[in-house]
Amino acid sequence: MPTHRVSPEHPDPGIIQEAAALLRRGHLVAFPTETVYGLGAHAMDPQAVARIYAAKGRPAWNPLIVHVATADDVHAVAASWPEMARQLAEAFWPGPLTLVVPKRPDVPDSVTAGLPTVALRVPAHPVAQALLVAAAIPVAAPSANPSMALSPTRASHVARAFGDQVAMILDGGPTMVGIESTVVDVTGERPRLLRPGGIAPHVIEQVVGRLAVPDAAPTADAARSSPGMMERHYAPRARLLVFQAGSESAARQAMDDERHRGGVPGAVIWSDASAAGIPASGIVVRLPRGAAEYARRLYETLHGMDDQGCTLIALEAPPDEPGWEGVSDRVRRAATP
Ligand code: AMP
Ligand code: MG
Repeated sequence: MPTHRVSPEHPDPGIIQEAAALLRRGHLVAFPTETVYGLGAHAMDPQAVARIYAAKGRPAWNPLIVHVATADDVHAVAASWPEMARQLAEAFWPGPLTLVVPKRPDVPDSVTAGLPTVALRVPAHPVAQALLVAAAIPVAAPSANPSMALSPTRASHVARAFGDQVAMILDGGPTMVGIESTVVDVTGERPRLLRPGGIAPHVIEQVVGRLAVPDAAPTADAARSSPGMMERHYAPRARLLVFQAGSESAARQAMDDERHRGGVPGAVIWSDASAAGIPASGIVVRLPRGAAEYARRLYETLHGMDDQGCTLIALEAPPDEPGWEGVSDRVRRAATP
């Protein structure tokens, strides 16, 4: 297993150099970012990029996020850098914000799924930073999970899915943000929120004003211009039932039914009411009532419940409040229709 443990703060330069050399030669390297683990490849090498799609089983129309070490490096992939991009990069990079800008012609079409735009980010994780500096190339890196499955927040999640398909996995411990980046399109007159994520919309609006939000229920075409909008995504293996706070009895009933059918029910809750209404026997996880802390543990918790053999997860809908958009979005997409 090509996993190398590295300190999340001060990764061993020798291992980073080895990983960087593999990337430069067109191999796949999985590495931690502050959001989730990424499956990285040389963004300007079409054969390397093809390996990402093959490993993930990712549809060719779903474009990748390109990672660079600093905001100065965007010009290797971006044809232009709109004023809004400059402002947002200054405010939030390095960090969990992805900016969609016009692409340079030499960025392979496979990276952008044929779109004239490219998604770019400077990650804040010291291991990702060290790797990007050492590699000195733009690195395309989607989340390191099979297409549609839960994103990985630990190296073990990556190893399980891709152990023999990647040249190296850098294990920098659990990720801090726990859900993917916020994606904002800055190619138009007004910024557009394509995917909520690690940075809350109202925080971004303090810098660039009102964010346009595409339709909540996108058409197939809209989903293709922003594949993060695909309805079912980020899903655990277990059936996932979302219940509203205050409807614990319905959740308890569904769990009882599942048990009688011979399944293994579990619950993910955050409120006092649910804690009182759902017996703590069995697999019940209570997540913190803070959006950032909740996000950090969401995928982690769902991975853990899959590992314990859960067949049904009853999940209490997160609070419908500003700051929870990223979490609510992932929960909605994880839900079994
Ligand atoms: P992942 O890296 O797996 O979290 O997914 C990448 C996400 O980046 C997609 O779901 C899209 O929302 C977004 N993305 C990447 N490239 C583009 C682009 N050129 N235009 C719009 N969205 C993009
Ligand atoms: Mg992904």
